[in-house]
Amino acid sequence: MSNFRELLTNARAQINEVEPAALQAKWDSEWVLLDVREPEEAAQGTIPGSILLPRGNLELQVETVIPDKATPILVYCTAGVRSCFAALTLGQLGYTNVTSLSGGFEAWKDQGGTWQVPKRLDDTQRRRYHRHLLLPEVGEEGQRRLLDSRVLLLGAGGLGSPIALYLAAAGVGTLGILDMDEVDLSNLQRQIIHTTDSVGMRKVDSARATVRALNPDVNVATYDVHLDTTNTASIIAEYDLVVDGTDNFATRYVINDAAIHANIPVVHGSIYRFEGQVTVFAPPQGPCYRCFQPTPPPIEFAPSCSQAGVFGVLPGIIGSLQATEVLKLLLGIGETLVGRLLTYDALTQTLNTYRLKRDPQCPSCGTQSTNLSDQHTIQAV
Ligand SMILES: [Zn+2]
Repeated sequence: MSNFRELLTNARAQINEVEPAALQAKWDSEWVLLDVREPEEAAQGTIPGSILLPRGNLELQVETVIPDKATPILVYCTAGVRSCFAALTLGQLGYTNVTSLSGGFEAWKDQGGTWQVPKRLDDTQRRRYHRHLLLPEVGEEGQRRLLDSRVLLLGAGGLGSPIALYLAAAGVGTLGILDMDEVDLSNLQRQIIHTTDSVGMRKVDSARATVRALNPDVNVATYDVHLDTTNTASIIAEYDLVVDGTDNFATRYVINDAAIHANIPVVHGSIYRFEGQVTVFAPPQGPCYRCFQPTPPPIEFAPSCSQAGVFGVLPGIIGSLQATEVLKLLLGIGETLVGRLLTYDALTQTLNTYRLKRDPQCPSCGTQSTNLSDQHTIQAV
C-alpha cells in the first residue's frame, strides 16, 4: 500500500518539473500558466496571465479551458506538490507538453518572479454581483473573470435581446454587438432590448443604450456592418467567444470558419415558429457548424421569422439558454452543450438533447482542413 510520499515520488518520476530560477532563463511566451490553487489562495497573489482552475475541478473542466492538448502548459500551486499531481493527471488526459513549477508560487515569489495581487471588486460591484458571489462556482474570482471577458454577440434581435441583457446583468465586461438593421415596430413583439421609443433607431445604438443603462460596468463596442470574409477575422480576433443570434445561413458559415481559425467557441441558437435549438460549436471537442449543417437548406425550407412567424416568447427562452452556455464557458463550470444539441418545443414544453458528432471529412474542422485554415480561407456560402 502506497503512502503519500511514494505517490508523490511516483508522480515526480512521470512528469517534467522546472525550478523558478531555470524557468526565467528559458521563458516560453507560448506557455499557458495554469494555477491549480483554490480561489482564496489565488486572491493573495498570482503570476500575471494565469488561468485559475482549482485541482478539484481539473479533470472536469480543463478540456473546455484548454482544448488543444499540444498546448505547452506550466502548472503551479503554492509549494509545487498539487501541481505534480495535476501534471500527472493532465498527462493521463492526453496533454503532451506539461511542466510543473517546482516549489510553486512561493518559490517563484522568493526568487524574484513577477507576481500581482488580482484586482478586487469594489463595494458597488460586491453589491451588484452579490448573488453570484454567494455561489462557490462563481465567487469573486469568477466574477472578476466575467468582468475581464469579451463576448461578441451577432444580432441585436429576438435572440440577441435576452443574450445581451443577461450577459450585461452578469457583468461580462466587454460586449461587442453586431447588427446592421434598424428597429421596426414589428420587432417589439419579441426583441425586448428595444422599446417603442427606439423604433427607427439603429439596433446597435438602441441595444447599447439599454445595456449601458442596465450595467455601466459593461463596455459596449458596436458593429453596424455586414459580416463577410473581409472583416470577420479581424472583428473576431478581439473576443474570447462568439454568440450567434443571427438568422442567416451564409453568416453562420463565415463565422464558423473564422472562429475555428481563431480557436474560440461559438454558442449557436436558432428558432422557428414554436421550436428552437441551442448548441456550442468548439472543435475539436465537438463538431463545428459545417459538421452539423454541411450545406445551407434550400431557401424554401428555410424561411425567416418575417416569413414564417415566431412565437414572441420563444427567442427569450432560446436566447437565455445561449446566455447560460456563454457564462458557463467563461467561468469554466458545468457541462456545456459542446457536442450536444438541445431542442425545445414551446407547444408541448419539451426539451431534448441529442449527441452531435464531428465529421472527420469536414472541410472546416476535419483532419483534411489544415490547409484551409492555414491559408485564412473563409468560404462564404
Ligand atoms: Zn466541422
